[in-house]
Amino acid sequence: MSATDRPVVFRNGLILTMDDAHTVLPGADVLVVGGRIAQVGVGLTAPDDALEIDATGGILMPGMVDTHRHLWQTAMRGYGADWTLTQYFVWYYLESGKLFRPEDVYAGNLLGAIEAIDAGVTTTVDWSHGLQTPEHADAAVDALEAVDGRFVLAYGNIQQGPWEWATSPEFRDFHRRRVDGGKLAGFQLAFDVTGDPAFPERAAFEVARELGAAVTTHAGVWGATNDDGIRLMHENGFMTPLTVYVHAATLTQDSYNRIAATGGSVSVSTESEQSAGQGYPPTWQLRHHDIPVSLSMDTSVWWSGDLFSAMRSTLGADRSREHLEAHAKQETITHCHLRAEQVVEWATRGGARALGMDATIGALTPGRQADVVLIKNDASPVMFPILNPHGHVVFQAQRADVHTVLVGGRVVKRDGRLVGVDLAAARASVAATIDHLRETMGEEAWQRGMNPDVPETAILENPYQYTEWDAGSAQWKH
Ligand SMILES: [Zn+2]
Repeated sequence: MSATDRPVVFRNGLILTMDDAHTVLPGADVLVVGGRIAQVGVGLTAPDDALEIDATGGILMPGMVDTHRHLWQTAMRGYGADWTLTQYFVWYYLESGKLFRPEDVYAGNLLGAIEAIDAGVTTTVDWSHGLQTPEHADAAVDALEAVDGRFVLAYGNIQQGPWEWATSPEFRDFHRRRVDGGKLAGFQLAFDVTGDPAFPERAAFEVARELGAAVTTHAGVWGATNDDGIRLMHENGFMTPLTVYVHAATLTQDSYNRIAATGGSVSVSTESEQSAGQGYPPTWQLRHHDIPVSLSMDTSVWWSGDLFSAMRSTLGADRSREHLEAHAKQETITHCHLRAEQVVEWATRGGARALGMDATIGALTPGRQADVVLIKNDASPVMFPILNPHGHVVFQAQRADVHTVLVGGRVVKRDGRLVGVDLAAARASVAATIDHLRETMGEEAWQRGMNPDVPETAILENPYQYTEWDAGSAQWKH
């Protein structure tokens, strides 16, 4: 009997099923048999050979779904913490992205994939736009297949136009070899639509249609993509319910109407939009257009693979904007529209729906794949009391509280420790990538890339005179 075949039963947890009614069950069990959720309820009978996991004091929820991660960039973790999109584009698109060898894509993907399951993100879209050659693409998939998570490969290549790489025989060959019948959870084409009236991206959309693959696209990114791209996609019939619009931050009502009318969804990367500058995180607008939302963390070159951060920052940004808009009209928001429960839904069901996987993942209901996260940390003062379970997940919990993770019934993390993961090997791969890049770029360029110039902050005129406090005489000095 293999590890996936052994039944698992979680006992006595607080269960956020994220079913259609968002049912919450206190003191309940989740039984997993044959990789699927068999039953959810109180005092379940489990097979004799079931692995029992005590969920007392913890929260059980569906595995989270990240619909937009550039996993290859995990090798540069934290390097761009002080970047804007300007530095990002210069570094990856123009200067250093082409220095990444297949083994460097492998290293980043491996570390990022491990990070995902460790944080309870059981399904990740690898928005893999560093695939300069078929060897790079093979390396990306090799890494994803080495980790027991669900990974959708979104194939891209920033060194060529999508009309070039998507129509090449090498791409077709890769698709035949690695996608059909492979281990990937799904396949998308990843490219941006520039708004060029000649619409050269048409050829790539046609390939996607022929392969039955969805397109994921950075849309509404200040200074890069805008309403023209959306209009061209719409007028040419390439907007579908499975199209994923990443960011969709700098767009007008007209684009939101086109997205809503064609059933697509937006992948909101709040931490990214807030510091890189794509535009204000758009959920406060998407809600009014009834556009489905999923969440994402974009890239570890700035942020982490942590959907707790995504939920928290998204809820904060939405409320912040709502208050700000009201104050500008001399009004007061007395009741928040966006609730914690809704962002938990976006982090789970929202992602599943965006990927067309809502029948199989995203909720703890019988028949679905057993992608389960137990948030439990008996040593933490933050794990009690748990009064508002969805709010607890969003504002109290963090990824270090992820105790146990199942993917398709397989235990990939238990008691806070990854299972069957060679972290030392991943570390060695990433170290080799860093050595390669640092040597090739040279120390000066390496440091300059990480430390962009700081613009001067103008100090405003102050009509009040600064004076020093004299503690001895307890008076202001003159
Ligand atoms: Zn992105």
